[in-house]
Amino acid sequence: MPHGFERIVAHPERQDHSADQPGDTIVARLRLDGWHDITVRVMHPFTWDAKFRGYRIDELAISPARPRTLVSGAYSVADAAALNHDERHGSRTPFDFPEGEMHDGVLYRTVGHAPEPDERYHDAAGWCTVAGLDTDGQPVAFATALDRSDCVLLDLLADDHGLTVQTRLPWQTFRPAELPAADALPGLLVRHGTGDHETAEARLRELLAATVPSRASVAPPPLIADTWGFGTDIDPKRVTAFFDVASSLGVEVVTVDKGWEDHVGDWYAQSGYTGGVAGIAALAHDRGMRLGLWVGAGNASPESAVATAHPDWLATWNGRHQMVSHRNHSLCLGHEPARDHVFASLDRLVRDGVDWLLHDFETISRCDAEHHTHDPGAGEAAGVVGWYSVLAALRAAHPDLLIENCWNGGKPLDLAMIVHHDTTIGDDWCRSEQNRLAALGLGVYLPSSWTSKYMGDEPRLPLRAQLAPYLVGGPWIFMGDLPGWSSSQLAEMQRAIAIYLSWRTAAMDVRAVPPVLSGPAAGVTGLAYTPRANGEQLAAFAVSEAGVGQLVRWHPVLSSSGAAAVESWIVRDEWSGAERVSSRAELAAGIPLDTARADGLALSVRPS
Ligand SMILES: [Zn+2]
Repeated sequence: MPHGFERIVAHPERQDHSADQPGDTIVARLRLDGWHDITVRVMHPFTWDAKFRGYRIDELAISPARPRTLVSGAYSVADAAALNHDERHGSRTPFDFPEGEMHDGVLYRTVGHAPEPDERYHDAAGWCTVAGLDTDGQPVAFATALDRSDCVLLDLLADDHGLTVQTRLPWQTFRPAELPAADALPGLLVRHGTGDHETAEARLRELLAATVPSRASVAPPPLIADTWGFGTDIDPKRVTAFFDVASSLGVEVVTVDKGWEDHVGDWYAQSGYTGGVAGIAALAHDRGMRLGLWVGAGNASPESAVATAHPDWLATWNGRHQMVSHRNHSLCLGHEPARDHVFASLDRLVRDGVDWLLHDFETISRCDAEHHTHDPGAGEAAGVVGWYSVLAALRAAHPDLLIENCWNGGKPLDLAMIVHHDTTIGDDWCRSEQNRLAALGLGVYLPSSWTSKYMGDEPRLPLRAQLAPYLVGGPWIFMGDLPGWSSSQLAEMQRAIAIYLSWRTAAMDVRAVPPVLSGPAAGVTGLAYTPRANGEQLAAFAVSEAGVGQLVRWHPVLSSSGAAAVESWIVRDEWSGAERVSSRAELAAGIPLDTARADGLALSVRPS
């Protein structure tokens, strides 16, 4: 195992609930004797099921009276809500999908509410850190990560003598006729030792960085423009105009979002696009850009040819077809013929010129169909394996293809998802502040180059304030009305793009972090890179109306090895290009920010 992690997958045992009702399956168990005063840091990924919470990391106490269970997977908020509901009511609720004409399909919760800190079950990424004290009172911590994307429950059970950590597959999604071999079950990767949460997070970062596909560690994150600012209201004329502006801005990848396809599931261009997908690719390539294309690869609209000809390929759950994102059905990727169709469709798109595959919606479906090639009691696990086998085959056939995950705004998050993707989004609001928070959350665990940001238009914000979080990390994805941008906005964008391009990096040890500020912080937010090897660093700030006139200082990180002995520094205003020399002492005292008006700032320091 990389970086000192051990993969625990022990002897699975099934809990019998009753003679005719299945129980959960315990997969792996680890005992930590003597641990006490324990907390877990839970990363809640963005999901539309808890859209107002957004991206958040909570630190929750674990005690004998308050066990905690982290729920990972694609439907984790809905699943955690159901499990909390059952714990309160002593009931057994099947996981399900909402129904009804008004249901928009992006939401999965049918019962209960998004998890609250005092509850047992929490939606979570497929990793966490746990810290406490051992019998000698020394700080101890561990990091865990899951190598699967289906619903896995991570139990953290404290008693008077220590902590038990176990993974559990819930009966709702996992009740196969026979238990599979241990290597076909989710593995729990664990590393523990002395230290605290920060120690464990650093170990987790090493593991996750080693999991990112190698392509993402050699090429810096690109500049992308995506048509979703128009929603599905796109046509060849609008797409061409969009490509023209994107090209003039130096965009490297242009992605056509939902609305190009005739039917979800069939993946042919609408009839107006001359030359079909190959014609769209030519439009991008002729303008010096790579083509990205949106797909909901695991879905099929009820009107699609695939759903009409092969209704038996659709996933069923609790005896009926799911109606999910944008009122589409799910194809069961655990069923071999359906999986073969999805691979053939995606392979055709790539052969027609698609360079960047942006996939969305329900590629991980739940299925209990009796007639499919998988065990009906383990359909979700089969679907996960099926989907990742499609991505692996695509990669093998097309080594230059880049694959972006934007599933429900950035889920699931686990080792299996990371190893199959070149980037993921962290938030789906397409707004500046939400992107900043997601970048900070993901930045605890992942390189800055691996977390893309969708930028919608926000005309109520000063433009530079809106742009600030996008200057750090990447890929940066424009999602506004580019042909409608004014000439002054285009000029500002060109300056912002120059800042982004000059600072972007594929370095796996560079992260997005909060800049250290002093003074009244309420009116100033920021996002910074960790220092480069020589100590240089960039920080971008947004000054709100509340911050106007306040004395706020930025304290660059001077403790890195590259910065340790440097006495003379150049402070650069990245927007104007103005530079001045400052002493180390002046930097340590903090660089006063220009808060004369609500606006965005971008400052860098480098050794003189
Ligand atoms: Zn199935």
